[in-house]
Amino acid sequence: MTPQSSHISTDALQIETNAPISTWFRIGGRADRLARPETQAQLAQCLELDPDLKVLGDGANLLVHEAGVDHLVVSMQTGGFKNIEIDDASGLVYAGAGVALPRLISQTVNAGLSGLQGLAGFPATIGGACIMNAGGKFGSIGNHIVEIHAMDRAGRMHNLKASEIEFGYRHSGLNHLLVCSAVFQLQKGDIAELKSELADCMAYKAASQPMNEKSAGCAFKNPTLTDSVQGIGKSGDRVGAGMIIDRAGCKGMTFGGATVSNLHANFITTTTDAKASDVVTLMNQVRTKVQDAFGVTLENEVVIWSRDPETSS
Ligand SMILES: Cc1cc2nc3c(=O)[nH]c(=O)nc-3n(C[C@H](O)[C@H](O)[C@H](O)COP(=O)(O)OP(=O)(O)OC[C@H]3O[C@@H](n4cnc5c(N)ncnc54)[C@H](O)[C@@H]3O)c2cc1C
Repeated sequence: MTPQSSHISTDALQIETNAPISTWFRIGGRADRLARPETQAQLAQCLELDPDLKVLGDGANLLVHEAGVDHLVVSMQTGGFKNIEIDDASGLVYAGAGVALPRLISQTVNAGLSGLQGLAGFPATIGGACIMNAGGKFGSIGNHIVEIHAMDRAGRMHNLKASEIEFGYRHSGLNHLLVCSAVFQLQKGDIAELKSELADCMAYKAASQPMNEKSAGCAFKNPTLTDSVQGIGKSGDRVGAGMIIDRAGCKGMTFGGATVSNLHANFITTTTDAKASDVVTLMNQVRTKVQDAFGVTLENEVVIWSRDPETSS
C-alpha cells in the first residue's frame, strides 16, 4: 500500500500566529507559528520554513512551557494525513499520521481485523503513537507495523520496513523524522470477540488510571534497574515507574496545580490554573525522591517543548 496523493494546492498552506497548542494537560503556551499541512508537498514547504519544526500529534504525551514555542509547530490532523484504507482480504491497513488511534481501532475491529484492540483506551494520533511506540499491558503499536512512510528534514520521503525500525519500550528511534503514514498487518478475527477484548482493555485502563483527569499519561518511563533493589527488583529488570514512585511515598504530592495521582503514581494531573512549570517542578521533586530512596534515575516519558533548547525534548 502506498500513501495517497492529494490534489490540494501547496499554495493553500496557511500559517497561524500565536496559535494555541492543544494538549491533554489542557495547559501550556502557544506556538509563535502553526501550520496544518494537508499534503506531503505542504509538509515539505513547512520544512523549508523551519527545518527544526515540531510535529504536534494529539498532544497526549506533551507538556508545553507557558512561554510557548518559537519553532514552527505542524499539526498533521488534516487532509490526506487523515486517510484510512482497510483491505479486509489481506488484513493490510493504511493510516495517515493524523488519524486518531481510537478511530483506527474502532474501524479495524468493526471490519473484523484483530491486532489493534489491545491499544484501546488512550488518546493518540498514528504519528505520535508510532514515534512513542505507544502501548501497554496488551502490546505496543510497533508489533503490528509493516512499514512507516516518513519525511526527513530535507523533505525526502523514506519507506521504512518494520525490520529497519528500532521499536523498543516506548522507543522507535524515528524522532528525527516526520511520520506521514503507517501500514499495519492485522489478522482476521471474530467481531464480537474483538469488541469484548476492546471493552476489557478500556475497563482495565479506567480502573487503574485516572482517565477522567487532565494528564499526559505516564510522566516517566518504566526504569530498568542497573542494580538489584530490595523489594523492588533484580538488576536488569524493567520495573513499573508507578510502583517505585508510590514506594518512594510520592502519591498525592502537589506543587501548584500539579498533583501525583493517588490512583496511579506515574500520572501527574493538572488543574485548569496549573502552570507547565508546576508539572516540571513536581516531576523533578518525584525524580529526586525516587533517586534518594532507591538510587534509581527516572527518565521522562512526557515530551516537553519550550523556547529553551536545554529543557526541550
Ligand atoms: C489519559 C492518558 C492515558 C495514556 N495512556 C497511555 C498508555 O497506556 N500507553 C502509552 O503508550 N501512552 C499513553 N498515553 C500517552 C499518549 O497517549 C501516547 O504517548 C501517544 O502515543 C501520544 O500520541 P500523540 O499523537 O498525542 O503525540 P503528541 O503527544 O502530540 O507527541 C508526542 C511526540 O511525538 C511526536 N510526534 C507526533 N506526531 C508525529 C509525527 N507525525 N511525526 C513525527 N513526530 C511526531 C511529537 O513531536 C512529540 O515528540 C496516555 C495519555 C493520556 C492523556
